Amino acid sequence: MICNNCRQEIPKGEEMNFRGKVFCEDCYVEALSIPKTCDVAAVYSARKTREAAGQKGTEGLTPLQKEIYEYVKEKGRVTPEALAEKFDTTLAEIQRQFATLRHCELLKGTKIDGVVYLEIMN
Ligand SMILES: [Zn+2]
Repeated sequence: MICNNCRQEIPKGEEMNFRGKVFCEDCYVEALSIPKTCDVAAVYSARKTREAAGQKGTEGLTPLQKEIYEYVKEKGRVTPEALAEKFDTTLAEIQRQFATLRHCELLKGTKIDGVVYLEIMN
């Protein structure tokens, strides 16, 4: 299997599915950490919008986003798969929610011993 992003051969069993594409682990972490919508201007404007609305931390998030944030905060580090299971939703949905949380600089993606986790961004 070839990674849809970097075109490298992916070792068997390490293919990661991301928004309908097959990614190697590195590209998967990167895709999780840097959502398409997450360019500097977008983050800046998201922050400005929240600031203008007087929103800090998890204010202005949807209830699900807040719950995800609180859960990750409590656990310290959670895999997207575990979150999908915990919140009884799909991995794609978690990735979508994560994009917003990453956008608001609340959560980030990290990789430890080959496993992708979401954690609180300090
Ligand atoms: Zn790749």
